[in-house]
Amino acid sequence: YLIMKIKKIKNKKPDLLIVGAGPVGCVLAERAAKVKKWSSLIVEKRNHIAGNCYDELNKKGLRIHKYGPHYMRFKKRRIFNYVGQFTKWIKGNYIVKSSVKGELYPIPINLNTLEKFFKKKFKDKNQAKKFIDTLKIKKKKINNSEDFILSKLGREIYENFYKNYTIKQWGIHPKRLNKSVVGRLPIRFNRDPYYVNQKLKVMPKNGYTQLFQNMIKDNRIEISLNTPYEKIKKDITPNIATIYTGPPDVFFNFKYGKLDWRSLDFKFKTLKKNKIQECVQINFPNDHKFTRKVEIKHVTKQKSKFSTISYEFPKSKGDPYYPINNKKNVTLFKKYKRLIKKLEKKNIFFEGRLASYRYLNMDEVIEAALNLFKKLKNKYN
Ligand code: FAD
Ligand code: UDP
Repeated sequence: YLIMKIKKIKNKKPDLLIVGAGPVGCVLAERAAKVKKWSSLIVEKRNHIAGNCYDELNKKGLRIHKYGPHYMRFKKRRIFNYVGQFTKWIKGNYIVKSSVKGELYPIPINLNTLEKFFKKKFKDKNQAKKFIDTLKIKKKKINNSEDFILSKLGREIYENFYKNYTIKQWGIHPKRLNKSVVGRLPIRFNRDPYYVNQKLKVMPKNGYTQLFQNMIKDNRIEISLNTPYEKIKKDITPNIATIYTGPPDVFFNFKYGKLDWRSLDFKFKTLKKNKIQECVQINFPNDHKFTRKVEIKHVTKQKSKFSTISYEFPKSKGDPYYPINNKKNVTLFKKYKRLIKKLEKKNIFFEGRLASYRYLNMDEVIEAALNLFKKLKNKYN
């Protein structure tokens, strides 16, 4: 059925063959067209662009994030300015809470979380830090996600806010996950209520799909949806290079074995209510099979009598969403990485969250794509 749906590809000799129409694929095609006048053929196996950032309007006209909530933030103004050419922005004041024993607490852990949880008042951050110092469990070496939280916040916070959420999300005990997994989440001794530390927190006014659509408008860019790379690779020979943004193990036909990924099932529910919950995301570390409930309307700021909520159920099979940062997979990826390096000599480049098997945010993959473009520009001048 999929093969039937592949439309005839017009440009069989593109300068770049790009596999995947996610952020990385779109940025490379845009830069190539604008700066070097190179043509690109983007092949995408799904029936839409924008990769996991894809959003769409549901039956009630509400914008939903099909592959989980995407909270855009930028570490670097340069990347923000680049992306800003393709969209108008609205503010992205993301607020997340965690439901523990029937009460909602600010996430990331901040001074308000600590006061509410320990039923104490702290006059300033030093007083709170002193109190937390009495709870910390000293570790000689911090090797994993459990040690990381125990050594920073003590056992009670670990058990109530982190342990079971992590087990649910990853299907792996925090003891067997690299400390960077939980280390992503800030720990604060101030009252900053926002989910992320970055000051540049914005949402594309008309959504992510529209943003990436605007990026690939140039007529030097051809996009072929419903088109897995594997089906066309024999027929297309790019003049300059191939950029691959899919999973490495698939590319190499599982030569060294399968990389593990964590996936999610999303269940969407629409209610005739202006708002369903008090903030965009509520985490459930200890109750339910789902990890979190997301009401994206809080950040898309749409006006409607209706609102949609999504429930996330983690699973190990399915679309690859999260690379797993444990010993087994890191070791396996290193082996694939050696093959990837060799392919550069054959003008095949791997980039993005899947291809580099790294837990990267949108601003980080966009930066990586811009860097790869620079490299290509210099190499194939
Ligand atoms: P992707 O977006 O994964 O795009 C790759 C594309 O390649 C896909 O469309 C895929 O179908 C296609 N493809 C793969 N293999 C083939 C093939 N063989 N043939 C043809 N096409 C192929 N980032 C943030 O900054 N903030 C957030 O809040 C945030 N939340 C997230 C929540 C979830 C649940 C997930 C999964 C990710 C989140 N991210 C977030 C990360 C963000 O989605 C990624 O950084 C970004 O999408 C990576 O872009 P990419 O182009 O590397 O890959
Ligand atoms: N985490 C947790 N409890 C929470 C939030 C996060 O234990 O309430 C842990 C969990 O292991 C999670 C990781 O911290 O996978 C990173 O959290 P983040 O919210 O950044 O996850 P993402 O939004 O990327 O899924």
